[in-house]
Amino acid sequence: MSTVATTPKPGQQRVADSNAPKVYKLTALDRCDRCGPSSQAYVRVTMKETGHDLLFCGHHYNKFKFDLVDLIDHDKTINEYDRLDTGNRLIGSENS
Ligand SMILES: [Zn+2]
Repeated sequence: MSTVATTPKPGQQRVADSNAPKVYKLTALDRCDRCGPSSQAYVRVTMKETGHDLLFCGHHYNKFKFDLVDLIDHDKTINEYDRLDTGNRLIGSENS
């Protein structure tokens, strides 16, 4: 297992220098526990009682987040769902 996962590969995350550099912890190797290998996970939650992690794509996090709200350790939750929104805006035109 590699421990060097905090630095994005060149060209992968560097979209605009005006944005504050944000280090994403979830990578393409993190897959949704519900979808399986077909979907990248953008949210990782840690269960309070067991300490186990669950990975979700945006769709499944939205589906289960209200069921999980009392069961997860919110301090350990990683939510990088905003990556999708940012990516779409940068790819699309400047509407505003
Ligand atoms: Zn999913």
